[in-house]
Amino acid sequence: MTCVLPLVDCHCHLADARLANERISIVKDCATHQVQRILINGTCPQDWQTSIDLARQFDFDASVGLHPFMAEMWNDIVERKLCDCISSNKVRAIGEIGLDAPTGGQSDELLRNVFLRQLDIAMEARLPVALHIRVPWNEFFDLLSQKGITCIAGYCHNFTGSWEIARRLLDLGLCLSFNTSILRGKRVLKAVENVPLDCILTETDTPDMPFNDEAKRPWHVRTVLEKLAEIRHCSIVDLSNAVLSNYNRIFKTT
Ligand SMILES: [Zn+2]
Repeated sequence: MTCVLPLVDCHCHLADARLANERISIVKDCATHQVQRILINGTCPQDWQTSIDLARQFDFDASVGLHPFMAEMWNDIVERKLCDCISSNKVRAIGEIGLDAPTGGQSDELLRNVFLRQLDIAMEARLPVALHIRVPWNEFFDLLSQKGITCIAGYCHNFTGSWEIARRLLDLGLCLSFNTSILRGKRVLKAVENVPLDCILTETDTPDMPFNDEAKRPWHVRTVLEKLAEIRHCSIVDLSNAVLSNYNRIFKTT
C-alpha cells in the first residue's frame, strides 16, 4: 500500500502558455495526489498575473520574477509591474530569477544587472528568491562578493552541484531544492546526503524536464522524495513532513 504523504512542489510553471488548456485540471488533480503546497513561479510579465490568479483560486502560492532567458525585456515598466505584483498577499517569493549563459541580444552585463536589481527588490520587500543559476558557480559567488551580498533568503532550484558548492549556498542562507535530476546525478549525491533536513525542498519545474517520457506534473515530487529518503537512509514520512514545514517557514505560509 502506498502511504499518503504531504507533497510540496516549490518550483513549477503552471501559468506557462504550454499548459493553457490543462492547467485547471492539473491543479485539481494535485488535490487527489496530496500535493499540499505549490509555489507557482511566474517567469515574465505575461504570466505573473495568471500565476497569482491560479494561486488565489486554488489556495496555492505564487512567485514572480523575470527569468534570465528573458532578461532583455527588463525596463522601468516591467520593474513597476513586478513591484505592483508583489503587493499581492499571494506572492511569496521573487523568481524565477538568476544567471544563465547569454543568448540572442543578451550580454553578461545585462543578465547580471537584471538579476541584481530583482535581488534588491526581493531584499527590500523581505521576500525569498527562487534562484536559477546556470553559470560556473565561481561567477555567481564572485558577483555576490563584489556586491557585498552575504545573505540571501530563498532556494536554489534544481540543485545538482557538489557538496562543496552546496555548503557555500547554505552559508549564504539558501535552501536547496531537488528535482528528478537527482535520480541520474552522481555529483549531487554527497550534497543530498549531507544537506541539513531543514534546508531541503522538492520541485518538478513542470512543464519542463519531462519525467520518463511522461509530462512532468507537481505530484512527481513523490519520486524525488523517495530518492532523497533512499540516499539519506531516512523515513520518507519524516522527510515529507520536514519539506512541508521548510516550505511553510521559508514562504511564511502558516
Ligand atoms: Zn523553472
